[in-house]
Amino acid sequence: MLIVGGGLAGLACAIRLHEAGAKPAIFEASDAVGGRVRTDLVDGFLLDRGFQVYLDAYPEAGKLLDKASLDLRPFKPGALVYQGGRMLRVMDVFRAPRHLVTSALAPIGSLADKLRVALLKWRLSWVRIEDIATHEDISTELYLQRAGFSTRMIDGFFRSFYGGIFLERELRTSSRMFEFTFKMFSQSSATLPARGMGEIPRQLNLRLPSGTVRLGARVTEVQSHGIILKSGETLAGDAVVVATDASSAARLLPKMDFSEPAWRSVTCLYFAATRSPLNEAIIALNGAGNGLVNNVCVPSDLAPDYAPPGQALISVSVLGLPNLTDLQSLVLAELESWFGRDVHEWRHLRTEQIERALPEQAPGPGNSGAGFCKHAGIFVCGDHLWSASIEGAIISGQRTASEILHSS
Ligand SMILES: Cc1cc2nc3c(=O)[nH]c(=O)nc-3n(C[C@H](O)[C@H](O)[C@H](O)COP(=O)(O)OP(=O)(O)OC[C@H]3O[C@@H](n4cnc5c(N)ncnc54)[C@H](O)[C@@H]3O)c2cc1C
Repeated sequence: MLIVGGGLAGLACAIRLHEAGAKPAIFEASDAVGGRVRTDLVDGFLLDRGFQVYLDAYPEAGKLLDKASLDLRPFKPGALVYQGGRMLRVMDVFRAPRHLVTSALAPIGSLADKLRVALLKWRLSWVRIEDIATHEDISTELYLQRAGFSTRMIDGFFRSFYGGIFLERELRTSSRMFEFTFKMFSQSSATLPARGMGEIPRQLNLRLPSGTVRLGARVTEVQSHGIILKSGETLAGDAVVVATDASSAARLLPKMDFSEPAWRSVTCLYFAATRSPLNEAIIALNGAGNGLVNNVCVPSDLAPDYAPPGQALISVSVLGLPNLTDLQSLVLAELESWFGRDVHEWRHLRTEQIERALPEQAPGPGNSGAGFCKHAGIFVCGDHLWSASIEGAIISGQRTASEILHSS
């Protein structure tokens, strides 16, 4: 069984095949597994390739991963919102009841908005994840408006919080994706593995026999029972799985009528400081409605291994790929109003520009809900065929493997 791509979908597919007694082989173009989930060690700091979190409530990922050895470190349930020159605290009062009064009084939306959040949380707690795919499919913005949220709440909170998740602030992403992520956030914490997000694929890779993954092996052609590598090498197998991102799948499978998706991009700037500007495991959001920065956090506040002793790692997300030569200084100038003049002492570590971070997930006819597709004996999986998330990629890979086993 030949699998093209060693991201989470390819790894999850290979594990299920291996556990059923098959012999999967993964061909990965880059120098390590993980795809869009990787961590680099730079100057003693652990830099994830873009800020992302593992939601502890992910059901299928939770069954596949050994969460105890990932040593997941939770963010506090809620956020700090920078608005009107102040940092306001908005917590999930069901999980952080001691913040009931400050959250209720924070001028982010009205008290009625906060009750609507509680109502939505209660309503979605009864919904099964698989049923979300049958719900009405509209934009998240329209969904929130129909749920009665005020413009102040949508602009001041949802645009920045979900902007950081969907990587767009217009909230044009499908309401189904909103319901899924809202449910996941309501049930448990957003977390970081103690040694970086890259530990997730690393752990999955360790469950495969050594030699299963070939790195630096770019596949240039895919056929029903074989693949051709860039080196010219040809390999044959009982089944071929294309577990790449959506654009690579479209290029590898021109006859399969995949259109290249629109991509959402993000720029992540990393800084080192001698002191954390937040000093707590929380995400700070830009609720001001203008500016470059969408969200800021300090991974080393929850997982100290992210920074060398005595230092803090600061992660700043800017949506899109702003073409500005002075991006770094503009971001710092903006953050001076959040955190004061100390920001000018931060040391820039790296700026990650991730052009293909998430495929567009607008409402409308999208994937079939099966989690994979198949054409002329070739299987395709990946986050683009379920939901653009860690959970979505893992479900897609696992379902593809089950289908292969079932049909062979
Ligand atoms: C910045 C950012 C933030 C995110 N935030 C979150 C979050 O907070 N929570 C969450 O759950 N999800 C988040 N996601 C989404 C999540 O990371 C992805 O949905 C998931 O990792 C996709 O996995 P995949 O296996 O489907 O695809 P990929 O990770 O894209 O893997 C595909 C693999 O195929 C390889 N490949 C491509 N072409 C070829 C070829 N021709 N030959 C061989 N190999 C090839 C690639 O190198 C890659 O390794 C985020 C993603 C990004 C980038």
